[in-house]
Amino acid sequence: VSRAPHCTFDRVVGETVDDEDLQRWLSNYQVVAKEWHDAALAELGDVEAWRDAVAAVRRHTVAHLDRYLTQFADNVEANGGHVFFAATAEEARDHVAGIARRKGVRHIVKAKSMVTSEIGLNPALEALGAEVTETDLGEFIVQLSGEAPYHIIGPALHKRLPQIREILSEAGGVELPEDAEALAAYARAALREKFLNADMGISGVNLGVASTGTIVLVTNEGNGRMSTTLPRTHVAVMGMERLVPDWRSLDPVLTMLTRAGTGERMTTYVSAITGPKRMGDADGPEELHVVIVDNGRSRILGTKYEPVLSCIRCGCCADFCPVYRTMGGYAYESVYTGPIGAVLAPLLDGLEGREHLPFASTLCGACQAECPAGVPLADLLLELRADVTQRPTSSAAWRLGFKGFAAASKHRRLWDYALRFAGPLSPLVVRRGRLPVEPPILRAWTDSRDLPSPAPRSFRRLWARQARAAAPAPSDPTTPPGSDEREG
Ligand code: SF4
Repeated sequence: VSRAPHCTFDRVVGETVDDEDLQRWLSNYQVVAKEWHDAALAELGDVEAWRDAVAAVRRHTVAHLDRYLTQFADNVEANGGHVFFAATAEEARDHVAGIARRKGVRHIVKAKSMVTSEIGLNPALEALGAEVTETDLGEFIVQLSGEAPYHIIGPALHKRLPQIREILSEAGGVELPEDAEALAAYARAALREKFLNADMGISGVNLGVASTGTIVLVTNEGNGRMSTTLPRTHVAVMGMERLVPDWRSLDPVLTMLTRAGTGERMTTYVSAITGPKRMGDADGPEELHVVIVDNGRSRILGTKYEPVLSCIRCGCCADFCPVYRTMGGYAYESVYTGPIGAVLAPLLDGLEGREHLPFASTLCGACQAECPAGVPLADLLLELRADVTQRPTSSAAWRLGFKGFAAASKHRRLWDYALRFAGPLSPLVVRRGRLPVEPPILRAWTDSRDLPSPAPRSFRRLWARQARAAAPAPSDPTTPPGSDEREG
């Protein structure tokens, strides 16, 4: 594995680890998130049965995606909406930019959407001269500070109150107090102006209901409804896998999405949008466009990685991940952070330059155990690691090292002999926890850690010796056979 792609990752991780205040903040966040999450799920009773139900719905939908996509698109059009299938991020951006150009759009408000960040939509619209305003409070804060989202459902999770005060004060040109309610009130008033002036609203799609062509949005701030009903044109951008077959199957998915994501029984607003404004409707957009984005997803279909498409973007895998807590959201260099990002980013963007991400995990399995959609994250991370080591671009020394390790660990006798000699020999080559001459393949380890010497006698050898000492004398007929010392 070449060293270059790790450099940004190493730097960002180093900065996050050195920031004691941020480390405390992320740690406290995970404690609180776990309390909310556990309490909300406990009310459901048999949580595993709910998880199984969600996993079954999502697996079924992904396995029959062609059928449900066709049904969903037909129903959106029957309801008066327009559908566009975008094979790539570029096609999706161009299509939305084309609508904005045709409509002469100047002001755009956006509800929270991961897929629009994935395809880089904002810069494409700003290049047209349009003003784009993120209206989810967290997204609004990171947009003002020129940063990317830090967490799937908490974009400004890393910002503490003094920093938010500074960002909003600077944007508003006023000295705001360090008070959460006052800051929220300021943002609310600033955003209200944007909603009233907007000529286009853009949203994501939490879930699409194929049987009726309905878009379901899950929000807590009401900004989703403002963005989708006040402007004359609504554009909904959806990852192609974000469907459920019908309303019955929506039920368990919605139930688990909100409880796993925010620890709530239900978010404040659950909006179901079926087509644009109809005759007699008091509000709603005159036009509804649904852009369905592939951007690498169909490459995953039918492969060993297909289960990742069951993800419902609740973000809870990051809340339980000790690696996310330590290295933070920006180390993933992707809109998708946490364990889902470590899997999805290399799959969508390619392994090149992201081959370190599958290794950014302890494989403790906490993410997999908590995932409400049954995504086998730890298994997928292992598959990706295997793919990384098989790539022809990984260094010969790397591949040779792993081949040697695999051979030794598969043959008991070889392993025993390696350990028998490693202990007594290691003091000859390891000095103060370091090798005097470090092979490049070990440098990433020894740069920041000691290389401990193997103990002169292994635990298993000592254990065997102790067992032998405690055993009855050989003349005793009760002596068990085969109690000879085995190295281990
Ligand atoms: S992988 Fe599971 S836990 Fe992580 S965001 Fe997706 S659904 Fe949530």
